[in-house]
Amino acid sequence: MSSAAYYAGLVAGTPPPSCRPGRLRWCQPPANNLVSSGRRSHQAIRVTNGVNMDSRAKLAAPVAVVTGASRGIGRAIAVALGKAGCKVIVNYAKSGMEAEEVCREIEESGGTAITFSADVSIEAEVESMMRAVICLLQAIDTWGTLDVLVNNAGITRDALLMRMKRTQWQEVVDVNLTGVYLCAQAAAGVMMMKKKGRIINITSVSGIIGNIGQANYCAAKAGVIGLTKAMAREYGSRNINVNAVAPGWVTSDMTTKLGDNVERKALETIPLGRFGKPEEIAGLVEFLAVHPAASYITGQVLPVDGGLSI
Ligand code: NAP
Repeated sequence: MSSAAYYAGLVAGTPPPSCRPGRLRWCQPPANNLVSSGRRSHQAIRVTNGVNMDSRAKLAAPVAVVTGASRGIGRAIAVALGKAGCKVIVNYAKSGMEAEEVCREIEESGGTAITFSADVSIEAEVESMMRAVICLLQAIDTWGTLDVLVNNAGITRDALLMRMKRTQWQEVVDVNLTGVYLCAQAAAGVMMMKKKGRIINITSVSGIIGNIGQANYCAAKAGVIGLTKAMAREYGSRNINVNAVAPGWVTSDMTTKLGDNVERKALETIPLGRFGKPEEIAGLVEFLAVHPAASYITGQVLPVDGGLSI
């Protein structure tokens, strides 16, 4: 099947044969197991997988996929988008329990969220995630859609270049760069059909100014910046905005393993004299993802780094 036919099928309402919504988990407990009416309604709509959307507002809410949303910055982004009214797909690779907690937090604030386990560096898993998202949403909204993609999933495998093993290089490039390419390509296919969408790629100031011991990470994050600009040019005519957010040092699991010495040295380089909080990255991502005032911003790389990169 050609990619155009594939995405046309998704948007037109024909669930592709390999759609596997079983891997999607809505965290709200099912109210009952009535089958969806498959039409828009002001009333509650219940479907077999337990989705319970209770208002037109929720049907109209933007659908956002956040990769690597089980912890750290991705978690803060997912929560911010959930609170802003998005239906959030909380992607993770391994941390299922943490991802469920993220969903709970979103639902406690009145939002809607589901978890989806998929390794962003594996094409078949990314494809499965995007297909399942569209299939599931078609069950509650005849126009299954995807409005926002935040490519946040990332890893580090630090070593000085002299000692960097090929596996350390490859793992980081696979997740941090190829993962962005795979997710963005899949999401943009759907967004192009709808002529609407926003993609936010989480890069790093390391991809702008470099960092000792992170040649693999810096190369991958610099690649994300190039990819962002190319996509912004390619998809601008389809009303898809593509931007990158470049955090500096942010408190998360990724940075707690640095050690006191590295942390002290890092602090000396930050004009604001402290690490950022995940919520301080999430605020900008939320703006780029859903705010009407962000509609004329595309192809930009926006640092949120306490002044580190100036
Ligand atoms: P983190 O706390 O280590 O969290 C990483 C997240 O990515 C987790 O949810 C993890 O899920 C997910 N993930 C890892 N590999 C994955 C894969 N193959 N497929 C899907 N999900 C995967 O990291 P963080 O500090 O929040 O960083 C988030 C993003 O910001 C990354 O892209 C990072 O490079 C970037 N960034 C961070 C900093 C910083 O100082 N923290 C600075 C600049 C940029 P599982 O637990 O399920 O594996």
